[in-house]
Amino acid sequence: MEGPKITVVIRKRPLGKKELARGDQDIVQVKDQATVLLSEIKQKVDLTKYVEQHHFNFDLAFDESVNNEGVYSTAVRPIIEAAFNKAKCTCFAYGQTGSGKTFTMLGDPEANVPGLYLMASYDLFGILQRPEYSNLYVTISFYEIYCGKLFDLLNDRTQLAAQEDAKGNVQIKGLTEKKIQNVQQVMQIIQHGQNSRVTSQNSANSESSRSHALLQINLKQGKLVHGKLSFIDLAGSERGADVRDQDKTTRVDGAEINKSLLALKECIRALDLNKNHTPFRGSKLTLVLKDSLIGNCRTVMIGNISPSSANSEHTLNTLRYADRVKELKKPQEQKSGGDALNRELMLALCELEISCLRGLFLFCIQSERVL
Ligand code: ADP
Ligand code: MG
Repeated sequence: MEGPKITVVIRKRPLGKKELARGDQDIVQVKDQATVLLSEIKQKVDLTKYVEQHHFNFDLAFDESVNNEGVYSTAVRPIIEAAFNKAKCTCFAYGQTGSGKTFTMLGDPEANVPGLYLMASYDLFGILQRPEYSNLYVTISFYEIYCGKLFDLLNDRTQLAAQEDAKGNVQIKGLTEKKIQNVQQVMQIIQHGQNSRVTSQNSANSESSRSHALLQINLKQGKLVHGKLSFIDLAGSERGADVRDQDKTTRVDGAEINKSLLALKECIRALDLNKNHTPFRGSKLTLVLKDSLIGNCRTVMIGNISPSSANSEHTLNTLRYADRVKELKKPQEQKSGGDALNRELMLALCELEISCLRGLFLFCIQSERVL
């Protein structure tokens, strides 16, 4: 199989108008095509400020000057060809609400900015013209996972059930699958589905989406799937960490999102390590993606990040998540994983030592008092 199985990409968006007006600082620097530096502004107990720097390496890192075309042609185009070679290919947009996931996937239709969906469709129909693929046709499905449940975005958000058959294949019963002939039809379908997406109030962004949106494009030959392309606009990664919500549904939803993002990370890591056991059943998201996370598959994980000092914590979380997906990929990085473990062990030992000393100290004081 040509090309890497897993590609981890970081994309930094520019500071928004509100952030600029507020005077937020840009704390993210994309040093080169693969390195990201985050300067975290911290405060000491005496309120003096200091900066803690965090370095990360990825397969690719894009700064705010790179547009959707740039991201597409470098990171995503290779997997379109792979789908014609029978691969199951997936592109994820991960990140906190407002970090640029939908901008990356859908673009900005009002400003005529194309996103990955559109650019991939152009290439797909271009390649499909080749005589060797005259036996193939294209179908499309668009659905979302909200609170661990599946909803068909092409059929009035009808609830669907995913089931594993006797052979271990996961089927989504009743999912709309539309046969399409051209790019215009793809965009009409996406627009229709996008309008039905669930959005609700949360503490980060009133317009934010709290569901995972899965756009699946199948290359088919008769009834068989020849190759598959999935584009997944994941729910805001901050949802799992946010415990401020009063509303029970919102809290349950947050826990579901957290569970699915962790399961996704585990599945990609298992794929990376060629493990026999992959924890698909850890969440609905990973279950429906089972066929795309085993065998002949290609995965592109785009970690979208905000540059603003106000989002420092969530940005760091995204960088760490993406780093964890990548970390175990190369032998030398496994070693750094080992180093990290050693560091954690050392810290644990230090803590143990400190608490022993504290105990001894208290004991001495008390004994002195007794004496
Ligand atoms: P998310 O889907 O992660 O919640 P959005 O894609 O809706 O975030 O992006 C939040 C805002 O930032 C939108 O107004 C969007 O147009 C803008 N934005 C995101 N990424 C970029 C970018 N690379 N260039 C310019 N504007 C961007
Ligand atoms: Mg969005």
